[in-house]
Amino acid sequence: MQPIRSDRHRWHRAIVGCALCLLATSTQALTVFACEPEWAALVRELAPHARVHTATHALQDPHHIEARPSLIAALRRADLAVCTGAELEAGWLPMLQQRAGNPRVHDRAEGMFFASDHVELIDPQPEGGGPFAGDVHAAGNPHIHLDPNRVREVAEALTRQLQALEPQQQQQYQQRWAAFDAQWQTRIAQWERKAAPLRGMKVAAQHSTFAYFWRWLHVDQVADLEPRPGMPPTPGHLQGLLTKLRSARPEAVVATTYQDGRSARWLASQLGSDTPALSLPATVTEGAPAPSLPALFDHLIEQLLAAHR
Ligand SMILES: [Zn+2]
Repeated sequence: MQPIRSDRHRWHRAIVGCALCLLATSTQALTVFACEPEWAALVRELAPHARVHTATHALQDPHHIEARPSLIAALRRADLAVCTGAELEAGWLPMLQQRAGNPRVHDRAEGMFFASDHVELIDPQPEGGGPFAGDVHAAGNPHIHLDPNRVREVAEALTRQLQALEPQQQQQYQQRWAAFDAQWQTRIAQWERKAAPLRGMKVAAQHSTFAYFWRWLHVDQVADLEPRPGMPPTPGHLQGLLTKLRSARPEAVVATTYQDGRSARWLASQLGSDTPALSLPATVTEGAPAPSLPALFDHLIEQLLAAHR
């Protein structure tokens, strides 16, 4: 009879253990809504137990997203929403917040985190631009995630927010932040060493998406393919740029993977066969070439080094 009793005992233990593990999972599963892939990637670093829903992907323009029912449903379930702010999502997030009716993620609620609130923004446009002026970024350039130093500041602030939401895990969050920070600072130093030859490189680009990235690596954006911020390139504007750039040729013409690359390719081809048009991801991608935040910076630097004369 002994083996049967022992079996029973094992079963009992297994059932109790499983109930405990379910309890643990239900208390630990923080549900996070990330407006952009870069913040989803950061949340996964700092809160690996969280369930993360990413609202947009690298082939979508984060300034212009449709408030689809699936996004409303995802925001309704969220304990925490992590977005850029600085008006990047002004065209769609307020509508999602309103329709989701989830007080946890209303502006100024503990579960609503805007990354841009925690860093200094460049290039504010205090005069604004009116409703049809395009993506003017009156509060300053919101594309902060392309500066790894600002990512670090955001990560630190996000850790504090996560600790406030899950005080029972304060210590684990502190340890993960410390591990992330040590690794990230090592990476920043490596990137800066690798990208040193890019200092002074001249590029033309569509929109101010990479403004922080250029500034970090001392790359000079000498022209914007957009006639006004957020407005698609026009033939007249491109022709004007071509005249201007013939005497001061950029080494590459850059568009992001979510933009129509035809204008960049046209301008590059007119400038000469040795001027490449680069289509670069502006954020973490689902598969290759930039499936994580470090991979994104690796990829951007490699692409520019390859284009650098
Ligand atoms: Zn923008």
